[in-house]
Amino acid sequence: MDTRIETLGLIGGMSWHSTATYYRLINEAVAAERGGHASASIALQSLDFAEVRACQLDGDWDRAAALLVEAGRRCVAGGASTVAICTNLMHKVAPQVEAALDVPLLHIGDAIGAEANRRDWGTLGILGTRWVMEEDFYAERLARHGVATVVPAAADRELVDTIVFDELTRGVVRDASRDAYVDVIRVLAEQGADAVVLACTEIGLLVSPDDSPLPLIDSAEVHARALADVALGRLGEAASVG
Ligand code: GLU
Repeated sequence: MDTRIETLGLIGGMSWHSTATYYRLINEAVAAERGGHASASIALQSLDFAEVRACQLDGDWDRAAALLVEAGRRCVAGGASTVAICTNLMHKVAPQVEAALDVPLLHIGDAIGAEANRRDWGTLGILGTRWVMEEDFYAERLARHGVATVVPAAADRELVDTIVFDELTRGVVRDASRDAYVDVIRVLAEQGADAVVLACTEIGLLVSPDDSPLPLIDSAEVHARALADVALGRLGEAASVG
């Protein structure tokens, strides 16, 4: 039996609340498959989110890219053979991170696209930060998998983004915010979404499939599952479009 485990590099801390989810899910998947005391080999670089958030608010994406590239290099120096950025939004600088590293980056959009295809969902509603909902980089990555996207109207985008940064990335979970998200999901259903991607890695801490009028793809969950596949040597099963 092949018991080797690939070392994963996680660029996390954005926020640490969702990085904890990745850490738990990857370890659970490895333990479930290998049994006993088996656990994942992880080189984690947990950034100071205040520094990353300041770059976002200043629009200084070059500085943000540099922070993530440095973290990625430290993951590789720690033995990582595959690296992941544990947030949707910061995939805005994925091209710079990918170009700077000599190991593969497992893109969150590829894990989501593969899941949408598995479930036969052609159109996904997107709930995430404003850049994820409003800019092309995210929808374009899903389009590579043949997945179309719809986003909430401006006022709802503002609401969703505000709840992410005022509450979820600070570890605050409120029933009223869950209700507000469910209302937005109802509108996405009217706009033709087959399912909704929780395109912010903390939203799964607030909204569960039982709350939602549409099926959900939790970005943190499918990304962590794809990473566990890599750790367990199932490279072919990890989402990839290259
Ligand atoms: N974790 C969030 C995401 O998946 C937002 C935090 C951030 O990276 O700014 O997009």
